[in-house]
Amino acid sequence: MINWSFDYVIPSLLILIIIMGYYFSLPRLPVRLNKVFLAIMVNEGFVIISDIIASWACNEYKTLPTWIVVLLNTLYFAAFFSGCFLFFEMCVTLLRIAPSRKNVRKWLIRIPFILSEILTVSSAFFGFIFYIDETGYHRGPLHFMVYVTLYFYIFMNYFTLFTHWNRLRRRHERNGIIGYTTMLLIGAALRYCLPLYLIFDTFCLMAVLIIYLSYGNPEFFLETRNMAFNSKALRIFIEENEDRGRYKILSFIIRDYHDLRDIYGTIQMNQGIALISEFLKKNYPEVIQFYYQNGRFVLLGNRGMDWEEIHEEIRHRFLLPWKSDDAELYLEVGFALVDLSKGYGSADEVLNSIGLLLERADRLGDDYNVLTDDNALQDYADRIYLKKTMENAIDHKAVEIYLQPLIDANKRTLVGAEALARIRDEKGHIVPPGAFIPIAEQNGRINELGEQVFEKVCQFIADSDVDSFGLQFINVNLSPIQFMRTDLGERFLKVVDRYGVDPSRIHLEITEEAMIDDQQMEKQIQAMQRDGFRFVLDDYGKGYSNLTRLKKSPFINVKLDMEIVWDYCNAPDHILPMMVGAFKKMHFGITAEGIETEEMAKKMTNIGCDYLQGMLFSAPLPPEEFLEQYRGY
Ligand code: C2E
Ligand code: MG
Ligand code: MG
Repeated sequence: MINWSFDYVIPSLLILIIIMGYYFSLPRLPVRLNKVFLAIMVNEGFVIISDIIASWACNEYKTLPTWIVVLLNTLYFAAFFSGCFLFFEMCVTLLRIAPSRKNVRKWLIRIPFILSEILTVSSAFFGFIFYIDETGYHRGPLHFMVYVTLYFYIFMNYFTLFTHWNRLRRRHERNGIIGYTTMLLIGAALRYCLPLYLIFDTFCLMAVLIIYLSYGNPEFFLETRNMAFNSKALRIFIEENEDRGRYKILSFIIRDYHDLRDIYGTIQMNQGIALISEFLKKNYPEVIQFYYQNGRFVLLGNRGMDWEEIHEEIRHRFLLPWKSDDAELYLEVGFALVDLSKGYGSADEVLNSIGLLLERADRLGDDYNVLTDDNALQDYADRIYLKKTMENAIDHKAVEIYLQPLIDANKRTLVGAEALARIRDEKGHIVPPGAFIPIAEQNGRINELGEQVFEKVCQFIADSDVDSFGLQFINVNLSPIQFMRTDLGERFLKVVDRYGVDPSRIHLEITEEAMIDDQQMEKQIQAMQRDGFRFVLDDYGKGYSNLTRLKKSPFINVKLDMEIVWDYCNAPDHILPMMVGAFKKMHFGITAEGIETEEMAKKMTNIGCDYLQGMLFSAPLPPEEFLEQYRGY
């Protein structure tokens, strides 16, 4: 009689039950990874239980009918071979190899698995893998297939990983596959040496644990504050769904999310988000809910659903406050509807369209209308084109500067100029900065772009004998992103040194929004000032204006935003003159932007502006034309 030991296999079963308990307690997305992992766990539970019972039956073969012993062993081996194949399926899934549509390859890879299953089932009659006789359980003549199949799929795991190495970008993802496959390898070796200990199941369990910790934990796809699926989950879900045309996506964004978070506080805001999610879950159980960070919710469901009504209901709910523990949140939302049957090629296209629409819905002032994706694909294509154009220009150092004169308000003579960035598209048409600066800021290329502009300005000053026609300085716009580089000042200093330009000839423009409570930036500005650079506050009055902050700020000049200049010129009041008066007392110079008529120029001069800028004097010009105009040759 063979004496099987259950010392390893029973604790393994208990641990597996615990893992499954955790797994089932969290919402799971119906994607391939989760399906395969679930299959592995269920199968593994089945393997362990059938292993225990079959081994016990083998010990008790004398008292049990033979057919029961045979059946139990058949079930065990069938589950064992399924396990081998499922661990391989996991590897293929993790490497995002699409389920092969080429039948030949698909079936070739399954041959060992299918063959083993056939041999297992027929063992009852022919005893290939095992047989039971009057002396009990015996290995059959083809029992070695257990190891052939096991080693085949273990080898295929390593092989597939190494041939698709670059599919996984993160190291821990690759390590996960290597880790769990190696567990199977060690387990297989020990199974061979110590067959009576049923130890392979323990190693399978460790493989399951590695998969759980590396990829299978449902929390990886969850936004924990509201238990909705996260953006990663949305991407995978859309990527995997070949027939995604079945779905529509209604998304909405909490308007001014960042400002509201400042007002209400992060904790309250998070509670609000959890409340919204609960409301959605309760009322729309048939849609899948995703939370896309920064106050953006995405609801995905069948296209046949009454989306208009869902929108109406959600809109109505937002007319009421969201009551959390100690706050009442009043939130406003903007909606966007995306129809996935509109020929979206990739998950990227879908996600970007949602992003673009929500960006617009955030700015738009009413929640009655749902933005639809009629032009989203075109918008997305335009954006990609713009991004390419911008990157191309940066790579080829082809970012151009246009110069717009700054005029002394009283003498009406040239004193300086503002450099404005321009790039050209394939056809040579000029692209305005409003279109490409935000994209450059998003993907970080704004640093290079800004440095090219800065360098071209230095070159212009060095080459053009600027004193001869009274040009004292050139303003260069800086993006707040550029201050994230702590060596910004050093790099600029090197450039001015290279061109022999006095840094005080460069006035760096930064906008007010950028200044909000950023100590790091303030320090950098102070250091750069010590090096001789001057700073100008751009677009004053556009955002929140904070006079007390200005008091300790190091600007030599404040530029009034076009909007407030225009408002004042249309309907003069006392506010702007008082503000200008206050600035003058604080010894700031004042520039009025957007001067288009002589009348505006006079009004702004009368209230005390020092410099004027605008179409009345000149549009931004290419440097050669600028020189022609102002140097006179
Ligand atoms: P800004 O710094 O406020 O620049 C003034 C903008 O107003 C320019 O638009 C200019 O062409 C326009 N403008 C000037 N006079 C008039 C006028 O009389 N009427 C009207 N309607 N508009 C006038 P532009 O060149 O399209 O630049 C837009 C913005 O892009 C700039 O606003 C600035 O914030 C940003 N920008 C431009 N170049 C750069 C750069 O090199 N780096 C960074 N970070 N931002 C830049
Ligand atoms: Mg500016
Ligand atoms: Mg401005």
